[in-house]
Amino acid sequence: MATLTDRLDHLLGRKMADALAEAFDIHTVEDLLRHYPQRYATQGAELGESKPPEGAHITMVATVVKAEVVPFKNRNGKMLRTALESDKQRVDATFFNPQKVAHVIKPGVRAMFSGTAKYFREQLQLTHPSYLILPTGDGEPVIGGRVRGSGELAGMARSAQGADAGVDMEIFDRELIPMYRSTRDVETWAIANSLRQVLDQLDDVPDPLPDAVREDLGLIGLDEALRLVHLPETNDDIDRARERLRFDEAAALQLVLAQRRHAVDERVAPACPPRADGLAAAFDAQLPFTLTDGQLAVAEEISADLSRPHPMNRLLQGEVGSGKTVVALRAMLQAIDAGHQCALLAPTEVLAAQHARSVRQMLGGLAMAGELGAAEHATRVTLVTGSMSVPAKRAALNEAMVGDAGIVIGTHALIQEGVTFFNLGMVVVDEQHRFGVKQRDALRARAREGLSPHVLVMTATPIPRTIAMTVLGDLETSTLRELPRGRSPIVSSVVPAGEKPAWVDRAWQRILEEVADGRQAYVVCSRIGDGDEDDEAGGEPALDLDDFFGGDSGPEPTPRKPARKPKQPKGGDAPQTAAAVAVFDELRSGPLATVRTGLLHGRLPSDEKDAVMRDFTAGLIDVLVCTTVVEVGVDVPNATVMVIVDADRFGVSQLHQLRGRVGRGKHQGLCILVTGMKTGSPPFQRLSAVAGTNDGFELAQLDLAQRREGDVLGAAQSGNVKTLRLLSLLDHEDVIASAREFAQQVVAADPDLTEHPGLASMVTAALDADRIEFLEKS
Ligand code: ADP
Ligand code: MG
Repeated sequence: MATLTDRLDHLLGRKMADALAEAFDIHTVEDLLRHYPQRYATQGAELGESKPPEGAHITMVATVVKAEVVPFKNRNGKMLRTALESDKQRVDATFFNPQKVAHVIKPGVRAMFSGTAKYFREQLQLTHPSYLILPTGDGEPVIGGRVRGSGELAGMARSAQGADAGVDMEIFDRELIPMYRSTRDVETWAIANSLRQVLDQLDDVPDPLPDAVREDLGLIGLDEALRLVHLPETNDDIDRARERLRFDEAAALQLVLAQRRHAVDERVAPACPPRADGLAAAFDAQLPFTLTDGQLAVAEEISADLSRPHPMNRLLQGEVGSGKTVVALRAMLQAIDAGHQCALLAPTEVLAAQHARSVRQMLGGLAMAGELGAAEHATRVTLVTGSMSVPAKRAALNEAMVGDAGIVIGTHALIQEGVTFFNLGMVVVDEQHRFGVKQRDALRARAREGLSPHVLVMTATPIPRTIAMTVLGDLETSTLRELPRGRSPIVSSVVPAGEKPAWVDRAWQRILEEVADGRQAYVVCSRIGDGDEDDEAGGEPALDLDDFFGGDSGPEPTPRKPARKPKQPKGGDAPQTAAAVAVFDELRSGPLATVRTGLLHGRLPSDEKDAVMRDFTAGLIDVLVCTTVVEVGVDVPNATVMVIVDADRFGVSQLHQLRGRVGRGKHQGLCILVTGMKTGSPPFQRLSAVAGTNDGFELAQLDLAQRREGDVLGAAQSGNVKTLRLLSLLDHEDVIASAREFAQQVVAADPDLTEHPGLASMVTAALDADRIEFLEKS
């Protein structure tokens, strides 16, 4: 009998075991059992993809409709030329050794064929495919009473045990035929046959899930699930098996995350209970507006976290303009009131500088310690950036080191470069998507002996719940859903530039009208076009799931959608996208000649960037032509119009993020999405969807759905994350949620899982190798 950890060579013979190891890195019984069928074929139904790409290894069940032996055109000898027909397509197949094949591959015969897809005049062709003759549907015996086949079957026949030395036809003589990811060397039927042999000898597989939990969730046992997934009788069997195995995947993931949360919670942080007479209270008293209910609720959660002697590890997400920064600032003041310093990290120097300006402005006298007009208990806000002059930087670093600076603002480099703090108590990270578990761990290491700072991560990118529960699942989440009162929603429209060129002129006209009313505008382009590498659309993507999932290191590079790769082949047929530099020149010498224009992109020297941003903020620039550098966090409430050129080049979430730059003040915001795509085309529809709603969570879900065939799940479900075979972040929110609850309970009672050895080994398997690497990459 066999157990999960047994090696396959004893069970299947050396040859098959080697082939499986070579093709799929399958070594043990468990590895093989976890190679679940990709799909199931019903007898007579289509097995192959309807239009497989050239060069793909395909398997299909087809009936031979024509077979004739014909001479080769250019050389001696003959071949068997056949026409095969499946439900959905016709395939031409040729075989080289007609004398051997012709008496088996005859009209009327049904067989499974497997080979490499090729096209000749659009006709799908297979050259000398392997085949396995199938029993006919009406129970007729296999021709000659014996299994006939070629290719891998011959090798299998040799290695198979038993006197009949054949493939167990039972695998194929069933209603549902499991179809496996296969290769030329290891055909799907070879895998099916191996599994059959292994399952026959497999001992009862012990179940890591407690019975009560299983019953509660209505899940079948692991043993049953593993058997049914490979040898189902009915579709219901498949569903039940997958449901169970999927839960295990979610559970392993959630156990890892629950343990991570637990470990953070074990650490000691400075307790910073609120004070009635401190800076936070003074700040509240001088706020020019009242906080929304959402802001108050979140502030309450954060305040409670800060009061505890364990590090906060919280994600604050909220629509652009929902007032996260105010909430974060209040929290920082609570930490300062308790005698600690705070660091505020921004993704770019432009944003760091902007944060410094707006934080100083909001605090007023509260941030002027040591200066004239300082308030009682006042603190200092210090900006540290790489482009500062040496003396200025030294002074800033000193303020951090001696503790004069209550709030130190900088980019992430602040932490990497090892700025010394006198007494760091809290870190706020603005925009989480470049900031993973490892960076958060690095932050925690920066506090004084044994004390970890509280960490608050802010993001304006609405994060689908499933992502929040998995990729970012070590964080607690707070969400600001409502926008401060009196804000009008942004109106968006899509302009098909090719079909309605006059509408584009109208867009520039709108900008002029707004400027005449004293407002400002953005014109956003997908690339810079200064002659260097032309790519900025993907420069700071709103929700770059590639980062989450490590899509760049998967075994097969999955195609990225065009929105992420605006690079054009030089001189190719693809329409060239408009570059910021060129658009800037065109507009200022053409439609926008009468107003003050400015140019901002990521490759300007940072003092120039700062100057442009400052001028735009101060209203000295009316129209800012820019790239996605404005995507995150830029706050100019007087800007009311945004024209996005080549909008189809941007992702859904990114567009939403971008347009959040307008309509931040009391005036109505307008976003015009210009595209060269035809009305009705998928990219145009995508843009219409963005124009149709201001609900960021809805759009984040759409974004996730759009990428399902592409990078996200491609990377997550192929090789890179081996533990996610059946679990989809898009479809299985409920499973993830119940696994999370389960994991939370188990870990609370048994953090090291010593009393749950089965679960412990699930966790080990999940953490094995670099399998859970994507969690580190958020
Ligand atoms: P976010 O960081 O979430 O994008 P901010 O905190 O920058 O949002 O807030 C956007 C703008 O709204 C700022 O000008 C801020 O002063 C203002 N604001 C924040 N909260 C409120 C509120 N409750 N009522 C009115 N205005 C607010
Ligand atoms: Mg902000």
